[in-house]
Amino acid sequence: MVNGKCVTHLLGMDAMTNKLIPLSIPHLAGKEWAYIKDCLDSGWVSSVGPYVDRFEQETAKLLERKHAIACVNGTSAIHTALMIAGVNNNDEVIMPSLTFIAPANATRYIGAWPVFMDVDDKYWQMDIDKLKTFLEKECTYTAKGLINRRTKRIIKVILPVHILGHSVDMDPLMRLARKYGLMVIEDVAESMGALYKGKKVGSMADIACLSFNGNKIITTGGGGMLLTNNSVLAKRAKYLTTQAKDNPIEYIHNEIGYNYRLSNIQAALGVAQLEHLNKFVGIKKTIASVYEVRLKYVDGIRLPQQAPWSESIWWLYTVCIDPKKYGMSSRQLLQCLESHGIQSRPLWCPLHLLIPFKNAHQYALTVVEQLYKQALSLPSSVQMTKKQQEQVIKAIESRGK
Ligand SMILES: *Cc1c(COP(=O)(O)O)cnc(C)c1O
Repeated sequence: MVNGKCVTHLLGMDAMTNKLIPLSIPHLAGKEWAYIKDCLDSGWVSSVGPYVDRFEQETAKLLERKHAIACVNGTSAIHTALMIAGVNNNDEVIMPSLTFIAPANATRYIGAWPVFMDVDDKYWQMDIDKLKTFLEKECTYTAKGLINRRTKRIIKVILPVHILGHSVDMDPLMRLARKYGLMVIEDVAESMGALYKGKKVGSMADIACLSFNGNKIITTGGGGMLLTNNSVLAKRAKYLTTQAKDNPIEYIHNEIGYNYRLSNIQAALGVAQLEHLNKFVGIKKTIASVYEVRLKYVDGIRLPQQAPWSESIWWLYTVCIDPKKYGMSSRQLLQCLESHGIQSRPLWCPLHLLIPFKNAHQYALTVVEQLYKQALSLPSSVQMTKKQQEQVIKAIESRGK
C-alpha cells in the first residue's frame, strides 16, 4: 500500500487509467476520422464507393496480387474462395487442426469436409512432411480427381493457415499442390505483412484471404478480403459476393449469390489503417523481442521460434508453459494474469475435438493437443506501453506471487 492505494505495478492495471492490459486491441490513431467523415459528407456509405476501390487496390499492391475483392469479414472471404476454387458438397479441404474455426466453418457452409492435418512442434504451422505422407500414402488419383481412400471423398483444396503472424513453409506445400492438382487457399488473417523467404505472405497461393476483424493487425471493425492473380476467379468472386447479379436493372440472378461486400465506411477505416501497417509490424516485432529477451530466463517457459524461411509479424506472442517446471499450468497462469488485470488466451481448441467436426478425417495428429494444453498468448497490442509490458513480464516472472 502506498498512500492508501494498492500498488499496481504487479496488478497489470495501468496506474493512470485503471485499464486492463488487453490481448490485442485496435490502434486507431491515424486518418480514420477524416476518411469516415469524408464518407458521411459525400454520402458514399454503402457497399460501393471510392474507399472500397482504394482499399482493394492498395491491399492488392501491398500483397503483390492483381485482384482484390473486399468482403464483410474474413470468414466470408474464405467461403467465397472455397466456392470459386470449385469445392462442392462432400468434397474435402486439407487444413490444420490448430487454427481459428473460420476455415472449417466456411468449408461446412458448402457441405464439404475438412481433413485435419497436424502442425509441427517447432513453429506450430501445418506439418508439410505429414501432408506429403498423407497425399502419397492415403490418396489415389482417379478420373474424378484425388480421392481420400479413407473417406472416399474428393480432395479439392489445401488451405494452409499462417498462424500467429508466422508463415507456413509454402514452397514444398505449393510443389505438392501442383503435383496432385490441388488448389491452394492461404489464410493470411493473422499474418498480414509477414514475409516468406522475402516474399509477401498471401502472394503465393492461388487465392489468399485476409481478415480485418478488431483483433487483427489492421482492422475495419469487421471485414475481409480475397486476393488472386487469376482474373476469371476474381470476376467470379465479385459476382458471388454481390448476390450473383446478372442483370442489375431487371434483377436477374442466375445463381445463388451472397451479400458479402464491405461498406465504403469500413473500407475508409481500412485505408487509414493500411497507412500504418508497416509501423504496426515494427511495434509488434519490438514487443516480441522484449518478451524474448526477458522470458528466456524463466524456467518452464518455451518461447515461440521463428523459422529460417519466415519473417513473422508476431501478431500474438504465444508461449508454452511446462507445468512441472514452471509450477503452474497455462490455464492457472491465465487465471493468475486475469486477477492482475492482464488478458491472456490459450490457442484455439483443436478443431477435430469440436462436436461439428468430430466426424471429419483427422490425420496423424500428435502435436496439436499438447500444444493446446500448454500454449498461452500474451498481450500483444500495438498500443501496449513499455510499462504495461513490464507488468506482464513481472507477473509471469513472479508466478503470481
Ligand atoms: C480472424 C481469422 C479469420 C477470419 O475471421 P473473421 O472474424 O471472419 O474476419 C480467419 N482465419 C483465421 C485463422 C483467423 O484468425
